[in-house]
Amino acid sequence: MRKEGTKTIILGAGLSGLGAALASGLPVYEATDRPGGVCHSYYLDEDHMRHDPYVGEVSQCFRFEPAGGHWLFGVSEVSRKKIEGFCPLREYARKAAVFFHQTGTLVPYPLQDCLRYFEDAVRNRILQEVCSDELPSPQRSPSFKDWLLANFGPTLCELFFFPFNERYTCGLYADIAPQDLYKSVVDKQRIRRGAFEDAPNHGYNSVFLYPSGGLDKLVRAMSATCDIHFDHRVVRIDTSLRKVYFENGAVRSYDKIISTIPLHTMIQLCGIDCGQTQDPSTAVLVVNMGAMRGANCPPYHWVYLPSSKSGIHRVGFYSHVDRSFVPQRYREDDRVVSLYAEKSLRGDFPLSAEVKAETCTAIVDELKEWGFIGTPLVIDSTYTDPAYTWSRPESTWAPTAMRELGHRGIHQIGRYGAWRFQGMMESFEEGLSAGQTMAQ
Ligand SMILES: Cc1cc2nc3c(=O)[nH]c(=O)nc-3n(C[C@H](O)[C@H](O)[C@H](O)COP(=O)(O)OP(=O)(O)OC[C@H]3O[C@@H](n4cnc5c(N)ncnc54)[C@H](O)[C@@H]3O)c2cc1C
Repeated sequence: MRKEGTKTIILGAGLSGLGAALASGLPVYEATDRPGGVCHSYYLDEDHMRHDPYVGEVSQCFRFEPAGGHWLFGVSEVSRKKIEGFCPLREYARKAAVFFHQTGTLVPYPLQDCLRYFEDAVRNRILQEVCSDELPSPQRSPSFKDWLLANFGPTLCELFFFPFNERYTCGLYADIAPQDLYKSVVDKQRIRRGAFEDAPNHGYNSVFLYPSGGLDKLVRAMSATCDIHFDHRVVRIDTSLRKVYFENGAVRSYDKIISTIPLHTMIQLCGIDCGQTQDPSTAVLVVNMGAMRGANCPPYHWVYLPSSKSGIHRVGFYSHVDRSFVPQRYREDDRVVSLYAEKSLRGDFPLSAEVKAETCTAIVDELKEWGFIGTPLVIDSTYTDPAYTWSRPESTWAPTAMRELGHRGIHQIGRYGAWRFQGMMESFEEGLSAGQTMAQ
């Protein structure tokens, strides 16, 4: 499959870059020393020592992921077969809820389909608002906040959608265009039914998959058949000479590039000025923990939080999905859990070690206060920037930047490269398709 003599290269060995490499056989240049990008696992023992599963034993470690649990959604039969060629997948039925810490109440997710959990007066008011035609019509170019109000009505928005999205988007939800709407499905029939009776699990992630043995196992198996040059961070691209300069001093000529490097970074590396204000991004601080189970540990895979003192918007339990995330000695011992808590921060600024440590402490204290965890066994935090990319209503910044790069032989793909919300499968499939096109 490898195309000899070609000068097309791929930048970045995340899932998009790996997809492109698998479909084309083209060489990949990756900044770090491992494949997977945001999608990988790491192993930590209780002394906070990292262990590499390819060098030593990790069965007595906690398995964590840098941006929190990465679950595969919306996997078609064709893609599943392709992925299972690298690593078997396990299937899980989602258990998710919204947690109202003031009352200690857990309402199953999607909240709009579970109105029966609210007091009669609140439930009836929400039903009247959502199912009547009285909701304000969204404007021509609504913000995410306008869209939420027009679809869920004031009561449900005040209860959950506004405070949750305030945290999740780091305050941007009133300024950005509606995004990832498949996560907030408005099905009036289902909403009416769920106000009075149980409804079957539903939504984009009602069933999800995870690689048996860990996400790192999958991305390493994929990368094993690819030609990847690790520790090659791009620091400049001369688009007139068509040369890529790397931090380690290497230089590579190219005719064409498939790039998964974040769009805002890529235009800087190429010295392009789009003449427009860049669309925003947000970062995420993830605190990974192994801990003793708290008295009120929710029996869910993850919980969404409309309110928290520490600013977190979601907590997920790796060990509620699969016990293989905890050290072998605890797998039969239900008293030990592993989890991640996510807090969004404005993108494009470095997080000082001091602020990171203070934030971590506040998060762990709050989880203890809620009774989610008891004594922590291991705590580790990671910072991903960018984690989420957003666009302002009617902004043309991203298409303009991609067009400018396209004129210079650079094709941007991926969640950050193309600046659009997408999960692992879409990223991988987009990579496969870009690689196939380039290989032809
Ligand atoms: C908090 C969070 C939770 C998520 N949860 C899920 C989930 O549960 N399920 C799901 O399906 N998706 C989830 N996602 C989305 C998923 O992570 C992405 O869709 C996927 O990782 C995108 O892959 P990518 O290859 O496009 O980008 P990346 O993984 O970012 O890969 C880009 C690669 O480019 C490299 N690179 C960057 N700069 C340079 C440079 N200058 N030179 C060379 N290389 C460079 C990076 O090191 C990286 O390896 C989540 C994302 C976040 C942030």
